[in-house]
Amino acid sequence: MAVEPLDERSFAGYRRKLIEEIRGRGIDDLNILQLFDQVPRHLFLPEGVWPRAYEDAPIPIGYGQTASQPSLQALYLSVLQTTTEDKVLEIGTGSGFLTSLLALAADRVYSVERIRELSVRARAALDRLEVKNVALMVGDGTIGWRKYAPFDVIVVSAASPSIPAAFIDQLAEGGRMLIPVGTRERQKLVLVRRQDGETQEEIIHGECTFVPLLGRFAWASETAEDPT
Ligand code: SAH
Repeated sequence: MAVEPLDERSFAGYRRKLIEEIRGRGIDDLNILQLFDQVPRHLFLPEGVWPRAYEDAPIPIGYGQTASQPSLQALYLSVLQTTTEDKVLEIGTGSGFLTSLLALAADRVYSVERIRELSVRARAALDRLEVKNVALMVGDGTIGWRKYAPFDVIVVSAASPSIPAAFIDQLAEGGRMLIPVGTRERQKLVLVRRQDGETQEEIIHGECTFVPLLGRFAWASETAEDPT
């Protein structure tokens, strides 16, 4: 990964502070904390919000969407325990920040985003950091990405009323998936594991609020934020 020296100087201190905050929330896996040290989050965000780039908070990225809270992403990574052998499907590229963390932790990442402009911006940031093992697609992620299935890990970064069947179908044996399931206002984070052909669900986080998963097998898109 290539990081420009000026960015390093001006943001490294904030990044360390963010890592301490993530640790304060109980995530002390060094491999995961190191990922947050390696990727400059501000490069994935619009310049106007750079002063807030290392806050442990969701940050607006335009088009009615937000980059997820870093400590929540750290929780995702610690639950999923991604290895460099794993093929990952991410639904909701958004800023591309989590995509870049997953790219460092996994073999290959396939990430789907419904808003073209966000996907284009994420690609620019990934290219700037010379991240090579990511494929991006613009489209409705509620049908998964059949061409590259099955996936060892499925990461859903938007809230769904239920678990779309395609995600279960495209989860490999031994695979893990995290998805926020609930109402549009409030969701529970559900871990799905596939073992011996059976899937098991477990709630691992009680209360969270993600932007909605909009598509054929989740919520209908609203005209106001529909880019198409
Ligand atoms: N991990 C990302 C989260 C972005 S928010 C980050 O930290 O930046 C969730 C994203 O899911 C939004 O960008 C939204 O546009 C996208 N999304 C919502 N419904 C989708 C769908 N059906 N298919 C693909 N992406 C979708």
